[in-house]
Amino acid sequence: MTRILPHDHDHRFATRSVHAGQVLEPLSGAVMTPIYQTSTYVQSGLGQHKGYEYGRTQNPTREALERNVAALEGGTHGFAFGSGLAALDTILKLLRSGDHVVCGENVYGGTHRLMERIYGELGLRFTFVDMRDADNVERALTPATRLVYCETPTNPMMNLVDLGAVGDLTRVRGLLYVVDNTFATPFFQRPLEFAADLVLHSTTKYLNGHSDMVGGLLITARDDLAERIGFIQNAAGGVPGPMDCWLALRGIKTLPLRMRQHDANGRRVAEWLARRSDVVRLYYPGLPSHPQHELACRQMSGFGGMIALDLGDPARARRFVEATRIFALAESLGGVESLIGHPASMTHASVPPAMREAMGLTESLVRLSCGVEDTEDLIEDLEGAFAMSGR
Ligand SMILES: *Cc1c(COP(=O)(O)O)cnc(C)c1O
Repeated sequence: MTRILPHDHDHRFATRSVHAGQVLEPLSGAVMTPIYQTSTYVQSGLGQHKGYEYGRTQNPTREALERNVAALEGGTHGFAFGSGLAALDTILKLLRSGDHVVCGENVYGGTHRLMERIYGELGLRFTFVDMRDADNVERALTPATRLVYCETPTNPMMNLVDLGAVGDLTRVRGLLYVVDNTFATPFFQRPLEFAADLVLHSTTKYLNGHSDMVGGLLITARDDLAERIGFIQNAAGGVPGPMDCWLALRGIKTLPLRMRQHDANGRRVAEWLARRSDVVRLYYPGLPSHPQHELACRQMSGFGGMIALDLGDPARARRFVEATRIFALAESLGGVESLIGHPASMTHASVPPAMREAMGLTESLVRLSCGVEDTEDLIEDLEGAFAMSGR
């Protein structure tokens, strides 16, 4: 269990991004946290050590990352994992056979798969609801419900969940409230301020931001949860290696700079797309035409670089994603480079087709992750793809 240093909360966001959680390296005074690439630690006598016994249990590089993100989210404990899904796996291990979970229907495809295909087989029960309306959460509750899980904005439909409304509902009933904050990052949205008990990140995406590692994180401000999660982190062992923790720690130092540029590009590309007649539907919470724009302005301080657009024609969507030159056709999101994807056949292929259609995730939907390149180049790239993919 890693507690953040008291002074980590004293500073503003960008300062915390650069400094929080990092302690002076005693040997040389190295400015950067070293990569403690070790599996074990010498004991000076039986049971005499410096608090470090074994690499799965403790690693100084990992702890620096955990403290850093805990400080950004306004939590007191952070736990790093080998992937976002390993972090989710840890959350689900808090439950017991027979327990019920209410989850947003439009979550990351792998989240749905881990819940239904692994934990569904082990006796957990899941109900997936449209969380744009918090009443749907309330209606889905049963006496066995223990946990409410959501993403906002959702992937890829850019739907929002009213974090405060769900927080009110879970708090009075004593339910565990978990928010996947991968899309917004703590720079734009901090779910713990809306009574969430746990925040999950796929560090792979915006937090690391350079598409060069896979990782996950859990943040909480509750000591009781932290104790249990720390136990599971060590007992089940889904921990990341020190090199990946170091990459994430380095990436986060520029999180505010990157998020400002992702947001600027996202807004301008979305505004440009909104004026095109060959875009049948456009999903971006920063546009005043987004049905939840007002909520977005209330609970987020920016909207980021994720945009979904429906071209109305599956064949054209397939041609379109193969026609861009700067936007690379690839899974994932949140890196400095722009990516384009076809959710129905890529990230969300594991979601049952009927469920995909019901939430508007059609075969003609295209997802953009706007990177930090020059906006004009991104727009010209998309313009070329529209021309090449034809009508
Ligand atoms: C990618 C992603 C995950 C899963 O994270 P991994 O690091 O790929 O395991 C979970 N939630 C969201 C919103 C994601 O984008």
